[in-house]
Amino acid sequence: MTQGNAATHPGWCDRALCEGTEHAWHYSRPMVLGEPGGVGTTVRNVQSAPKDDDSGSGVPMVEITFVMPRFDETDTDENEYTIVLTGERALAFGHQITSAARAVVRG
Ligand SMILES: [Zn+2]
Repeated sequence: MTQGNAATHPGWCDRALCEGTEHAWHYSRPMVLGEPGGVGTTVRNVQSAPKDDDSGSGVPMVEITFVMPRFDETDTDENEYTIVLTGERALAFGHQITSAARAVVRG
């Protein structure tokens, strides 16, 4: 996998969203599922850019944000939950979801 830095963006980096300067982040275009106000997920790739001491870039990761609607007007809990996974762990997670979903769809 390509290791990006401020001068070399990862292949998945969206230049319009990239903050790939010192101490910032490369971002992919987010993939969004769900409707506003409902359950939803947003998935994007993230990678820290190199520091000004040229110590190198961070590891590319997959960031997944789950959005849950508030139960009612008294619900003040945080309704966004974000996890960040390595590429390998994200692939395993995707396989878990696919396996579970296939079983549900097949009945
Ligand atoms: Zn970038």
